Amino acid sequence: MNMNLYGHSDNWLMVDCGATFKAPLDAGDDHKENVKTCDVVSADPSFIENRQEQLCGIIITHAHEDHIGALPALWARFKCPVYTTAFTAEVLRRKLYYTAIAEEVTIVVVEPNSQLDIGPFTVSWLPITHSLPDAQALLIQTPVASVFHTADWKIDFNPITDQPFQPALFKALSKYRPTAMVCDSTNALKAGHSVSEGDCELGLLRTIKAQTGRVIVTCFGSNVARLISLARVAEETGRYMTLLGRSLDNMYGIARATGYWPDELKIAHRRHIGYLPKHEVLIVATGSQGEARAALGKLANGTHRDCELEAGDTVIFSAISIPGNEVAIEKLVSGLREKGVTVIQSSDSPHTIHASGHPCQGDLHDMYSWVNPHIAVPVHGEKEHMIANAKVAAEANIAKQLVGKNGDLFQLAPQVVVINHAVQVGRIDITENKAKN
Ligand SMILES: [Zn+2]
Ligand SMILES: [Zn+2]
Repeated sequence: MNMNLYGHSDNWLMVDCGATFKAPLDAGDDHKENVKTCDVVSADPSFIENRQEQLCGIIITHAHEDHIGALPALWARFKCPVYTTAFTAEVLRRKLYYTAIAEEVTIVVVEPNSQLDIGPFTVSWLPITHSLPDAQALLIQTPVASVFHTADWKIDFNPITDQPFQPALFKALSKYRPTAMVCDSTNALKAGHSVSEGDCELGLLRTIKAQTGRVIVTCFGSNVARLISLARVAEETGRYMTLLGRSLDNMYGIARATGYWPDELKIAHRRHIGYLPKHEVLIVATGSQGEARAALGKLANGTHRDCELEAGDTVIFSAISIPGNEVAIEKLVSGLREKGVTVIQSSDSPHTIHASGHPCQGDLHDMYSWVNPHIAVPVHGEKEHMIANAKVAAEANIAKQLVGKNGDLFQLAPQVVVINHAVQVGRIDITENKAKN
């Protein structure tokens, strides 16, 4: 649940306003069993809410829930313009549609590769590859210091949707020598380079080609590249693809509305899927985390109105297990296997059938070398991930690495100082006002 604040000359700029789900309100209770959790949780924004008049803008880097999910619930506390690119703006509009503030929020749609002055900040949007369309890194400049904020990213030269990763864009930053690079740490414990969406398409093609019954693939709805890959695989293997699950329908609609969906790739109507020969069916379903009420859960327990799985069908998990969901996923998988359904998970597949959207050590090393910031500030991960990210920065000859905690203030000028616990932080439950507001 990301919420970053950059300050200069009594003005603040917020970058991302995310939510997390089914989490305890005390961070100390994370990963513990039998603790009370809330359905939707965000960072406590009291610090900036108390100086709302100093907040000059909110930037959303990309449309993942941990970066955008709390904005509909919290915007009324900030009341300032939201800056984002087209795909993310469409996701946000559809979220705001269900709130009472839909007409009030000013959304400024920014072009990738453009630059805007927001208060005393000069912000440049730098398109970067991730696991959904239209992700952006930011260069935030002030007269005294500058920050390269990577947001979530990986190096992907065949991302299926957006332009391939452009090293030149980031090599060009070294001439500014950003004061700090604030960088994604999610996969900093993993050696090598991240896997491309293009490799994943090939792996899915090989896996699906070998099947003779129905094929059901479960993946994250926001991964439009994966959906496009699967639609192409369906064509190549003589199958009709259909989408089951609300979030998939929503993302497909957004991908069409924003020009990301290739017109020639057709989706079959779900009502037809039950009448097709099994070897002509490719279902993409929500529920990769074992959610009983998602489409895959219903398909597994025989309560889905459009289809029922049988022995000889294959379920492919084109996704990772998010920590905390292992038990639910295992229950779903064993239920499917009892029915005689073949289950292929990304961890035990000989082919690449899932690609993470975050940088491994090789990606991090490349980026630090290209940008050459004075200071590395690892974020977006648990402490061990941030320490691993800092180690890569040190190996790439970045002079200073600062690993902090939520609520720390990193002063970049005139001297570099980290003030621990400068801001009171915590978590709040936004389950209710997410729906009402
Ligand atoms: Zn993300
Ligand atoms: Zn994220």
